Order: sequence, then structure tokens, then C-alpha cells
Amino acid sequence: MIYPCLMTDELDLEHFRGRLLARRDELQALQSMSSGSRDAVELDQTSVGRVSRIDAIQQQQMALASQRQREEELVRIDAALQRIEDGSYGECLICEEPIAIKRLEFDPAIATCVTCAAQRSR
Ligand SMILES: [Zn+2]
Repeated sequence: MIYPCLMTDELDLEHFRGRLLARRDELQALQSMSSGSRDAVELDQTSVGRVSRIDAIQQQQMALASQRQREEELVRIDAALQRIEDGSYGECLICEEPIAIKRLEFDPAIATCVTCAAQRSR
């Protein structure tokens, strides 16, 4: 495996890999917990009144929304782990410039530099 030395010299890949793996474990644990509570909501709907049913549906939608967010984050984490494997971790996916280490420390799964992220969200 060839690492472009300019990139990897500055980045402690093992540190970021560790953080990504820890975060992935955390998200997967949350995922399995929330799938349990989703079942509970479905059971409740048969026995409770209309208002609490609406409540339950709203709760379920919120749970689904946060589940989707977690799934998206898991996808980003897997992609970042893949980039560590292929040696492109820390490069911006759009312009291929190095991503600031501070930015990676803040979110190790981040895939774009500040400039590209700003342009995208515009
Ligand atoms: Zn960029």
C-alpha cells in the first residue's frame, strides 16, 4: 500500500481510526437500543387512545429521523475508514487539498475542507 508521505506525515491515522471505530460502536449500540423502543411504540398503538396514538406516532417519527441521522453518520464513518485504508484520508473529496487537522479532530468523518464545505452549503 502506498501512502503519499506528505499527507500521512502530518496525520496520526491510528488516532483517527480509533476515534472512528469508537464512534461507530457507539452509534451501533444506539441503533440497537432504538429498534427496541420502536417495537414498544407499535405495541402501544393497539391499546391507547387517539391522542396518545398521535403522540406515539410523533415519537416514532422522531426516533426514525434520528435513526436516519445515525445511519448517515455510519455511512460517513465507513467511508472515512475506507479512506484510511486506501491512503486518501485527510484529503478533501472535492478539491483534494489536505483537510485542516483541527477540522478532523472535531469530526474525524468529515470529507471536505472548509472552503468546499462552505461552497456546498451555500
Ligand atoms: Zn476542498
